[in-house]
Amino acid sequence: MASLSLKNVRKVYPNGFVAVNDFNLDIEDKEFVIFVGPSGCGKSTTLRMIAGLEEISDGELWIGDKLCNDIEPKDRDIAMVFQNYALYPHMTVYDNMAFGLKLRKTPKAEIDRRVQEAAKILSIESLLDRRPKALSGGQRQRVAMGRAIVREPKVFLMDEPLSNLDAKLRVQMRVEISKLHQRLQTTIIYVTHDQVEAMTLGTRIVVMKDGFIQQVDTPSNLYERPENLFVAGFIGSPQMNFIPAKASKEGNLVSLSFGTNHIELNEAKGAKLVEGGYIGKEVVLGIRPEDIHDEQLFLESSPHSIVDFDVNVTELLGAEIYLIGTIDGADFTARVDPRSQAKPNETIKVAFDLNRVHVFDKDTEKVIT
Ligand code: ATP
Repeated sequence: MASLSLKNVRKVYPNGFVAVNDFNLDIEDKEFVIFVGPSGCGKSTTLRMIAGLEEISDGELWIGDKLCNDIEPKDRDIAMVFQNYALYPHMTVYDNMAFGLKLRKTPKAEIDRRVQEAAKILSIESLLDRRPKALSGGQRQRVAMGRAIVREPKVFLMDEPLSNLDAKLRVQMRVEISKLHQRLQTTIIYVTHDQVEAMTLGTRIVVMKDGFIQQVDTPSNLYERPENLFVAGFIGSPQMNFIPAKASKEGNLVSLSFGTNHIELNEAKGAKLVEGGYIGKEVVLGIRPEDIHDEQLFLESSPHSIVDFDVNVTELLGAEIYLIGTIDGADFTARVDPRSQAKPNETIKVAFDLNRVHVFDKDTEKVIT
């Protein structure tokens, strides 16, 4: 069993800085969990506590049914892959991969079996005699993975393993890592600040900010149902648009107004605002770029969500166009069909998809609906 459990884990560095706070997470066997968040949010610190490279100030770390706070890193049955690969330059690929096993006095035949097997999984059999300097960045990264694989650990920890690779190679290696997870059937915990990497790789994502977990969820839930403004803005590219709006109610209809614009919420969303006591108050409206439409048909079928969009720039990306501009002075991006006729420096009518509007509490920043 390679389940992991972190209970009320906290990290206070010797200078008094609290890098991780009240961290609670259960990771199931074979899960691919991503820690994501902006620089300095505590992702690496948490990973390093799991690895045993950093002391846990408070709380408990369980790996399987073993309390591991005071267990030596080498006895935790985990292997870590770092962003700088940390390969030994004077050793061949084979020796780099075999090194940890030799230290553990693993029999030679067993070492050979494991190295050959890992090399096959990673398609680096033909590179085993080379030294790291004769490898490309992607190949080095594979060797670094190979060195972890040969240990046959219960848990892999990966700290931004792709950050030194160029954009194209990152995409390739991302696919490789996904396949690797399927093939190895082990638990992986992976740190990245790149939300695209997080969304494409993880079966579950832990979004962190300032040492606190913001939300733990599947990629699609994070995207569709962000629990607060931070997660809503962090996950998704281009990011969700936000605008302060005032909630009002007339009869059974709940509306949001901003500037000269006015949209009517659907019944379910309106009811949430009423229940929460938000009528007459300021809230924050959020809408993703793809949920803003300029097609005539959509405008005709959505008379209650039409707003004026001042387009500044249009960016054709092939399969879609980004309309970049403002609504009532707030920056907005819409992602529309490439057949859109919108031109820069025009004010056009767009309609919000009312089923996909998010509303947040202005003060607590928590989602209302
Ligand atoms: P990045 O993506 O930049 O690597 P991160 O989310 O992994 O960021 P951590 O490396 O975990 O962040 O650091 C979390 C916070 O703890 C940061 O504010 C960092 O400055 C601080 N920190 C890290 N190591 C120490 C240390 N040894 N002493 C004091 N503060 C530290």
